Amino acid sequence: MADGLTDTERFLSKLIIPDNPNACWGWKGSTFGFGYGRLSLAAIEYGGKMRPVGAHRFSWEHHNGPIPKGLFVLHTCDNPPCCNPRHLWLGTIQDNNLDCIKKGRRPRNKLGVTKQDCEDTRRSVLKKLGVKQRQDGQTTVLRKHSPMPSVKSLRKTGRDRHGFPKKS
Ligand SMILES: [Zn+2]
Repeated sequence: MADGLTDTERFLSKLIIPDNPNACWGWKGSTFGFGYGRLSLAAIEYGGKMRPVGAHRFSWEHHNGPIPKGLFVLHTCDNPPCCNPRHLWLGTIQDNNLDCIKKGRRPRNKLGVTKQDCEDTRRSVLKKLGVKQRQDGQTTVLRKHSPMPSVKSLRKTGRDRHGFPKKS
């Protein structure tokens, strides 16, 4: 797979940069779903295997430095393959969702439920359980919620498994 190019050279070779500095930059390389440019990095730590990254993300890092953990590179131009650093900004997943709504890009399923609706429900359930969701999607238990009392312990207190006093 090695093409003898550095990651930066490979990135630059796939760009289409128009004369107008404010116009979107095109991407000649392959793309991910949703149209984001796909750039293969020849990172040595991946055992010589090429690692695909979003071209817009690479562009951001190329021009601005490393992307802080948990942040996403978003487009002001709503043009996924665009790599013009002037059109890229850093935001959270919430920013991305808000951005999608603003631009009317909020996909709904057949029932009219958006992914965000599902996520909201998931979040409220997690919150009730005392579980905090981190930016990377992993969950952390914030406080130990009391486990369901065992039937045996309830029998002792004279309550049924729903916590109601038992009718003797
Ligand atoms: Zn653009």
